Amino acid sequence: MNSITCPRCGRECDKLLDSVCRDCFFETFKLIELPLVLHVRICSNCGAHFHRSRWEDVGSVEDVMLKAVENVLFIHSEAGDVEVYLEPREITPYIYMVRAEVDAVVREETVHAEAETEVRIQRTACDMCSRESGGYFEAIIQIRAAGRFPTEEEKGAALPLPGKPWRA
Ligand SMILES: [Zn+2]
Ligand SMILES: [Zn+2]
Repeated sequence: MNSITCPRCGRECDKLLDSVCRDCFFETFKLIELPLVLHVRICSNCGAHFHRSRWEDVGSVEDVMLKAVENVLFIHSEAGDVEVYLEPREITPYIYMVRAEVDAVVREETVHAEAETEVRIQRTACDMCSRESGGYFEAIIQIRAAGRFPTEEEKGAALPLPGKPWRA
């Protein structure tokens, strides 16, 4: 067998990848990358998800989370036949751990990588829902104001009657 010496580690191997042995190549090769923490905004009223500066309806909290993880999951451009498995685990209603497992083929070698991200769910009101609740809030203020301030009629009653001097 024709063996080559890896210039980096000095071990004998049968082929070089980017002029190093297979072990040295995959030691520095990053198949996937995931941020440690991912923040996801979900409307607490309708369940819409805030993505790319707009609200969209994706589905359940789990669907939203998995889509958010997919969006940030970086997969190396050299990877082919990529298969991604995502497994969410609920820690609290606001924190999930999502595990990503990826199988791919890189330079004719089968590569497997795993990463985990903590998804923190921020529940707010989306534009539509906050507008609706804003209207509701305004209505409450108006009702309270009507009770607190005198009407035009009441104001008129407090003024001296027209034609009659303030002091007789
Ligand atoms: Zn080597
Ligand atoms: Zn909403």
